[in-house]
Parts: sequence; structure tokens; C-alpha cells
Amino acid sequence: MQFPVPVPEGIINLPAFIYFDVDNRFTAAQIQRIRNSIEGVLLNWFRHHNQKWNGGANNGVSELAACANTYAINNLQPVWYLGPPIINGQVATNVAMDQFTQLIRDNGFRLSPPAKIDYLIPAPLTSSTIRGETVFTKKRVPLSFVINPTQLDRIDVNNLTLTGSMFHAWLHRAGYRHPEGKYTSFFIGEAPMCVMRDFQPKNPAVPDSDYFQFFD
Ligand SMILES: [Zn+2]
Repeated sequence: MQFPVPVPEGIINLPAFIYFDVDNRFTAAQIQRIRNSIEGVLLNWFRHHNQKWNGGANNGVSELAACANTYAINNLQPVWYLGPPIINGQVATNVAMDQFTQLIRDNGFRLSPPAKIDYLIPAPLTSSTIRGETVFTKKRVPLSFVINPTQLDRIDVNNLTLTGSMFHAWLHRAGYRHPEGKYTSFFIGEAPMCVMRDFQPKNPAVPDSDYFQFFD
């Protein structure tokens, strides 16, 4: 499976494609849903960089960064990070989206091991959606995931929700983490929830668990 890499303004040295080896047990319909979710992650990465580029000033605040800045206060730094302290969700978003660029380059230029999308039906059946293990290094990280095919079959789970789930899994590959089962206030929880809300503010009537039930 391959995806053309959209080229954001201000970002050079990108590969034309990124590549995934997909378990052959997924059906064509399930593979299409995986495709939609990865394309959704790439689109959010692309939009972030274009909005940050801000016509060349490179000082813009993307919709994703603004939303994450409102809600994310914990674990703003990837585990491998050694730079100056990351002070807020806006800076964390910039660091995370730069790390997505690194993941894309390492994959597309074949510097990282091949990315594998594995098939796993968990018990209980809805206990996992898209799982990405936390990575402790910055470079040459494979974009590998384990996906529950039964979640892909659910018509009540739309593509934006799956994109948020995939975005969460990419953040684990980017070195972000959260305590088991805790997502609210953590960057790796709030940023993908922002994606799933299309960057709208939280609605008090909708609990975070409606979103993070699709995070591993
Ligand atoms: Zn997680």
C-alpha cells in the first residue's frame, strides 16, 4: 500500500510516497478504511504545516495547534526529546508535526524498517482499534500498527473518528505517551480528539470517552 505525500509550503526534501506492508487478511473494504485514516493523518499534517508557514513568516498557529493548546497540558514532550522544555500545547504540536515529517521521510526514503500493518482481533472485541507502540527513539522508526478489523467494519465509526485513532497511533510512534486509560489533558489524547472534533471546542454534553474509546 502506498500514499502520495502532499507537499506543504515550507517543507522540502520529502519523498513522493510512503509505504506500508498490509496483512493479507484485511478485506478490500477494510483496506479502504485504513487508507482513509492514513490519508486523514497526512491531510492534518499537511494543513498544520501550511497554516504554520503563514505565507513564509513561519509563525502561524494552525487550527490543530490552537486546539491542542487549549486542552493539552500533560506529557507535551516526546520521550526522546532533549531540547528546551516544551511549554504549551502549541509548541508541542509543532514538535509533533515536525516528528511526523521525520517519520514520513524515514519511511519514504526507506531509511526505517518497512512499516507493517498487522491484523488482530482482540478480546474483548472493541478493546483495541489502531495500536501503535510508543517509540523511544527519534530516527528510523517504522510506521507499524496493529489494527482490529472488526472496528473497521462498524458503520457507526466514521472516517474522521478512524483518522483520530490513526493520529493517536502515529503520536505513539512519534514518542508521545499517556498513562494507561488516561487521555484527557495529555497531548497524545487531546490532539487527536481535536482532529476528531474538526478543531471545534469541546461540547460539555459529549464526554471525552466518546472519542478516546478508539484510542489504544
Ligand atoms: Zn495510546
